[in-house]
Amino acid sequence: MKNLIQILERIDGKGYKAYKDLQGGYQFPLFKLLVDYVQGDPFATPSRIRIRVMQAHLKFHSDWIQTKVRQIALEDYLLRKWVKQIDQLSRKRGSGKSGLFTIDCPGQEILERTAVVVNEDFAEARISIGLPAQGRTVLGRQAKEMLVEQLPFLVKQSFFLNEEDLLKIERRMKLVDNQQAIRQEMSRQKWIAFIADGAILPRESGISDRPLQQMNVIPFQAPPTMKKVVKVPHGDSISGMAIPTGISLIIGGGYHGKSTLLRAIERGVYNHIEQDGREYVLTDPKAVKIRAEDGRRVEKVNISPFINHLPFGQDTKQFSTEDASGSTSQAAYIMESLEIGCSCLLIDEDTSATNFMIRDARMQSLVTKEKEPITPLIDKIQQLYKEQGVSSILVLGGSGDYFEVADQVILMDQYVPYDVTKKAKQIANDSIVERQFEGGEQFGKLTQRVPLKKGFDASKGKKEKMDAKGLHTIIFGMHQIDLTALEQLVDVSQVQAIAWMIYRVGELADGRQTLDELIEKVYTQIKTQGLDVISPYYGKHPGYLSLPRKFELAGAINRLRSLVIRS
Ligand code: ADP
Ligand code: MG
Repeated sequence: MKNLIQILERIDGKGYKAYKDLQGGYQFPLFKLLVDYVQGDPFATPSRIRIRVMQAHLKFHSDWIQTKVRQIALEDYLLRKWVKQIDQLSRKRGSGKSGLFTIDCPGQEILERTAVVVNEDFAEARISIGLPAQGRTVLGRQAKEMLVEQLPFLVKQSFFLNEEDLLKIERRMKLVDNQQAIRQEMSRQKWIAFIADGAILPRESGISDRPLQQMNVIPFQAPPTMKKVVKVPHGDSISGMAIPTGISLIIGGGYHGKSTLLRAIERGVYNHIEQDGREYVLTDPKAVKIRAEDGRRVEKVNISPFINHLPFGQDTKQFSTEDASGSTSQAAYIMESLEIGCSCLLIDEDTSATNFMIRDARMQSLVTKEKEPITPLIDKIQQLYKEQGVSSILVLGGSGDYFEVADQVILMDQYVPYDVTKKAKQIANDSIVERQFEGGEQFGKLTQRVPLKKGFDASKGKKEKMDAKGLHTIIFGMHQIDLTALEQLVDVSQVQAIAWMIYRVGELADGRQTLDELIEKVYTQIKTQGLDVISPYYGKHPGYLSLPRKFELAGAINRLRSLVIRS
């Protein structure tokens, strides 16, 4: 620490580059400060530092990190404390980002992240700091104030726990234990989704993921026939609606809460924080939201189960296009997800291509099967479940044709779900079947694709450039990857992680291993070495990363315009 003060006094008033002298480690009474990267000027990406406190000082309970889920929950809790403290303390002093502390900011989910790491030996926070300058002149006194006064205060407020923290952490441990217990019960019972009684599903707005805070919010209430009770390790058993494997429809009038229910199910692949309203809305982590996405690129995907004999005899076993239609994009999205091991399709009529979903009797008689390349999902959905074990949950308000193929039908009426399976089946049985089944003998073969290394070359002669730009874009060299259709991406830090992971997949690609194998390898690396490992700055401040699912990583790779698949 003395060392640090000396440097700051020495460089005071000098040019900004003098800050580079700070790089290195400094021992404070209670923590170690590691200055990993010093920015080049006050307007550039802020400097990156780590703060490490040994467990001897912290005395965290060892059972807080006894499972991975608990460890992530603890890290997330501490990160939120950092965010709060930094919000209160951080203020601009000088030009550019001078004087500002920043750290990764989590949303409603509890995700594995690099911002705070806790292990048996220490807790470490990775933060950014705008080293203060006036113009481009080092403000040594202000820097001293930040690093020698503010920083120890931040560390104390964030990492050192008070009585309230202890209670809250205990509560959180119980929450994630319960979430985990329900997930285990779900896989034992073969449920795709569980939506607890009392859950609050609607969100504040289209741009806010916080719970809708209104007098007239209707808490979720399971229909009696679908109600299940799950024993949890802490507190009373939890009851709710269990959606079993198979084909489930969510039907009902417009504006009655169908999409809201499906969206909550989509997000149930993640654990949510206390007071979110969806703490006990849990979904099979391999469920994938599928949507139409016209205009996207498709690279040699076998979409033949859904699309055949296209005009000009285009191959649909290795279908490529720079500009997919609604139906072909939706077919490609499904086939790409199956390739990575998806267990359940989540589909909303609002974001689907109608001609991919249905083809009714009248249309069948006018446009014969030979003239229609598309085999609609309705004729494939049962094969998908019976042969591939892949379930579906569909939101449909406009077509009763699906009653025939559904195993469960849930009616949303004024935000309240009803089990109308029997009625729907009866209607399907009573009405004369005019529709012809067009699905053929079998679902069809799934293809594993092998990506070539050259497709991952971001440089194209230029300096390699990769970055996340918000939630929906990755800059990949000359290209931009549009991630808008990956609706289960929730965090900018996931996008940043995906960018580095694509790079990793590209390194591993050898023209022999399949995309799924390559992706699996990256996740194995993360599992053994931690999420830090995908960062090019491994061993130092790794940047702000949070773990995406395999499906979102594959989704980004599949949307890479330079991707090349082996023929
Ligand atoms: P649908 O898909 O059936 O047309 P949505 O799910 O889009 O309907 O919901 C319509 C509106 O109702 C949305 O603004 C949503 O926030 C609100 N909403 C959904 N569920 C509830 C609920 N349980 N209580 C109050 N409002 C809700
Ligand atoms: Mg809707």
